Amino acid sequence: MSFADQIRQKAEEFETKSPQEILEWAIREYGDDIAMSSSFQTQSMPLLHMATRIKPDIRIFFIETGYHFWETLIFCVRVASEWNLNVIDLRRDPRWDAFMGQNLRTLPAEDPNLCCYIHKVQPMQKAVNSVWAWISGIRRDQTEERAYARIVELQDDGLIKINPMLNWTTADVNRYIEEHNLPTHPLLEKGYRSIGCAPCTVAIGADDSDRAGRWAGRGKTECGLHTKMFKQKDYVVP
Ligand code: SF4
Repeated sequence: MSFADQIRQKAEEFETKSPQEILEWAIREYGDDIAMSSSFQTQSMPLLHMATRIKPDIRIFFIETGYHFWETLIFCVRVASEWNLNVIDLRRDPRWDAFMGQNLRTLPAEDPNLCCYIHKVQPMQKAVNSVWAWISGIRRDQTEERAYARIVELQDDGLIKINPMLNWTTADVNRYIEEHNLPTHPLLEKGYRSIGCAPCTVAIGADDSDRAGRWAGRGKTECGLHTKMFKQKDYVVP
C-alpha cells in the first residue's frame, strides 16, 4: 500500500475516533516534528487544552497579523502564561514592509486575499516547513470548503495535516469548554463568536452562523490557510 493510501485509510479510520484519540496518535507518531496552529479565540480552547494535556511543550503557531483586536493579543498572552504554552508568533516576511507601509489601512478592504496571503498564508507556509505534521482546529460545520476536508491529509509537498476537530460541532465545543471550565475570549460576550482580524470581523446576532461575522458581505469565507491558496506559492514579494 502506498503512503498516500495509508494516510487515506487512517483518515477513514479516524472518522469514528475522538479528537483526543486522534491527537494521541498524531503526537505519538510525529513527536517533536509536530506543531499546531491556534487563533486564540474561544472556539480554539478545546483543541489547545487537549493537545497540551498530551504534549505540554507542543509548538503552537499564532499568526500575528498586526491587525488583531487588542483583546485577542491580551487573551493569547494570558492563556499562554497561565497554561505555560510554547507559543510561536508568525509574522509577515519583512520584504513586504515597504509595500505594507503604503497599503496598511486600505489592503484588508481593497484586496483581502492578498492581505491574508501576506499576513497568514505565507508565514504559515514557512513555519510548517520546520515540521512533518501540522494540527489545525478546523471543523466541517464551519464553511462549505471545510465540509470536504479529511481528518488526516497528505499535502503535495509531503506535509501531513491533521484536523482532529473536524467532526465536532459548536455544541460539542461549548460543552467541552463548560465541562473543563476553560477561559473564553473577552469579545465573546459582545457577539463575536468567531474572531479574526479587527478590520474583517464584526459582531453577529444569536441566529447567525458562527462565522457570519468574518469578511461579512464581501464574498470571502476563508483566509486561505485551509484552501488551495495554501498550496500556491506564486505571489512574489515586491
Ligand atoms: S483577515 Fe483581514 S486584516 Fe487579517 S490578514 Fe486577512 S484581509 Fe488582512
